[in-house]
Amino acid sequence: VKKNPSFLIQTLGCKLNQLESEAITDTFLKAGFTAAQSGESASVIVINTCTVTSKADQKARRLIRKVLRDYPDSQVIVTGCYAQLDKDELQKLDDGNPQRLYIIKKDEILEFISKNFLEEISHGGTEAQSLINENNPCKSVKISGHYYPSGQFEFNPEKFSSHTRSFLKIQDGCDNKCTYCRIRLARGQSISLDAEEVLSRLRMLEKNHAEAVLTGVNICQYGKKILTTEDTEEHGGRESSRDIINNKNFNLAELLDYLLSNTEKINIRLSSLEPESINEDFVKIISHKRIRPHFHLSVQSCSETVLKRMGRNYNSQIIEKTVTLLRSVKDDPFIACDIITGFPGETKNEFEQTYKLCQKLDFAWIHVFPYSKRKGTPAYSFKENVTDNEVKKRVALFTGLAEKGKIAYIQRWLGREADVIVENRNNDKKQGVCYGVTENYLKALVLHNEDHDLKPGEVFRCRVVKKGKNKDYDVETVLMRRV
Ligand code: SF4
Repeated sequence: VKKNPSFLIQTLGCKLNQLESEAITDTFLKAGFTAAQSGESASVIVINTCTVTSKADQKARRLIRKVLRDYPDSQVIVTGCYAQLDKDELQKLDDGNPQRLYIIKKDEILEFISKNFLEEISHGGTEAQSLINENNPCKSVKISGHYYPSGQFEFNPEKFSSHTRSFLKIQDGCDNKCTYCRIRLARGQSISLDAEEVLSRLRMLEKNHAEAVLTGVNICQYGKKILTTEDTEEHGGRESSRDIINNKNFNLAELLDYLLSNTEKINIRLSSLEPESINEDFVKIISHKRIRPHFHLSVQSCSETVLKRMGRNYNSQIIEKTVTLLRSVKDDPFIACDIITGFPGETKNEFEQTYKLCQKLDFAWIHVFPYSKRKGTPAYSFKENVTDNEVKKRVALFTGLAEKGKIAYIQRWLGREADVIVENRNNDKKQGVCYGVTENYLKALVLHNEDHDLKPGEVFRCRVVKKGKNKDYDVETVLMRRV
């Protein structure tokens, strides 16, 4: 009996990459491949890379070398932001057999399958061929009357293989010019998925999921630009001037309002937000009970001078106002932020301004990144680098503050109730115990009566009873009732 080819995906980086890996999984499954488990041999291995920091690049290179070594018989596809920007550098990692390592864009994966594996797919290849024709990423894709180039949105995973929470990509690219950022170079200008299409995808997810995470490179730029048929046809579906406003001309707040008014029960979690985009109108809409009380702010620094050098469009007053506004519409939401420390020329005084404001704002978590020079960005040539030792110290201080913030947040929730979405059953088969995530983003251990059959994706009202004992979970909860 002919065996179908198999695939394995390894993902690095952000939620958007995770979502796109889910979509790639869906594409492989539909094309007739079987999913291999980690450690098993596979016909194709996809590595979805990230390039946010030099550490992310390093991690990707290490993973590529390891995969080439551990899977000598597999074809290896490297895709994602790093692959997009440094194709030649990555191609050099081949193990002497360039026919085995393919550095390609995500929207070229289907083409790759069609060229290399069609014959091997046992259901005759006809289904796979029609799927490939239908989804041919070389053509533009028609969604709600619009054509999109180069596959920015045709990835639409109907089922999520590894998340009980689903993800919905509503935007890609970014029009800001932050001086340290390489992501915008990889992802291009901001482009949004038409609101009607977002709604139809959300309704589809609503059938099987309690929650969807809206993702993009910068979702605050939702609605700025969208393509028209003429643009893409003229350019053969690959490029476009990208300067036409979308159907409904919605911004993010209006999109959320539209989605909430036209769905019934699905909860929405937002990915990263920019401080300057949060105003009174925005928080009025996110006060809706189906918007999860969990916000991640892209703060980076609280020093006016550093923010200016970073090319960011807000100041410390705006950061403070944003946090106050978010807290005014939700009951003690989980508010986290990103901070880059050790940006070129960051003085002790500038560092302290950031540290003190973060301390005052009492974030539930701080993701701290040591600044890393990124090729192709303006900050690459900035002088006055902070010494490695000093950067390490600053990172350690922020890590300490982040941990303190998390503990304080957990303490405030002891004795309170929250909705918990079940993520997986406990592996040690202990009856009456499972894991999940609270609506306010705490990893939870759920203790329950063993009569309850808790399935991944189900939501229960639970009482937070204790701080977690180890890194696997933040809090221990007791199940109260089904939601
Ligand atoms: S807002 Fe700045 S950091 Fe974020 S993706 Fe855009 S350019 Fe990069």
